[in-house]
Amino acid sequence: MPARWDALLLDIDGVLHVGDEAVPGAVDAIEQIKRGGVPFRLATNTTSRPRSAIADRLQRMGFDLDADDILSPASMAVRLCKERGYDRVALVVPHALREDLSELEAVESRGSAVDAVILGDLGRGFTWDILNGAFRSLLRGADLIALQRNRYWRRPEGLVLDAGPFVAALEYATDQGATVVGKPSPAYFHAAIDDLEANPATVAMIGDDLEADIGGALDAGIAGIQVRTGKFRPDALDEAGIQPTMLIDSVADVPALCGIAGSAFT
Ligand SMILES: [Mg+2]
Repeated sequence: MPARWDALLLDIDGVLHVGDEAVPGAVDAIEQIKRGGVPFRLATNTTSRPRSAIADRLQRMGFDLDADDILSPASMAVRLCKERGYDRVALVVPHALREDLSELEAVESRGSAVDAVILGDLGRGFTWDILNGAFRSLLRGADLIALQRNRYWRRPEGLVLDAGPFVAALEYATDQGATVVGKPSPAYFHAAIDDLEANPATVAMIGDDLEADIGGALDAGIAGIQVRTGKFRPDALDEAGIQPTMLIDSVADVPALCGIAGSAFT
């Protein structure tokens, strides 16, 4: 383990904020990371809103961050569809997310023959009709591209289902595996590390999701630093059998890990 980390991937939800509240010390931590010149990207699995809306929300909470700092599963899905030559897709994603997928031709009628069904977190918008339309397109030969397959996430009122359980339902119904483009997919992490132009040995992912953030980072050959905020549950460490590189209280501890002078622990 290096004495300090030279480049960072930071999860957003559960790390920088929970609901509409910034995690205590997070705004200051980002300021220090920027001032310290540490390259970073916000590596989110959020598929319920576009990057522009994520950035707006962070700014309202006091973060000096913008859409260009954010890597999202939607951009990875566009990249994958182009690589595979997919022209027509069905989108099972929140309406607002469509701006991040606008380079793809979306077919609106449910159950159509398409090259791929792209599925994100529709939240309360998941209905039998929508899932059944996706199921029928898959039976007609479409590939299932899951923006992410997180099991659950934390809203202010408690834990809620994420996109993963709905991906699993379609996989079960069709006996066909999904291609996951968000975390913990190695392709996502490799693209993020390339973006940072950093030596992977000195890159750390800071996350609250043991499987998507920490497991994904470790599989991609970078450090996975688990925070005790957001969806973190001590029990999950034993259940998942994933050993984070390091466990810290919150993102407020990160500047010190990057050797940034003036941070709380230096
Ligand atoms: Mg998170």
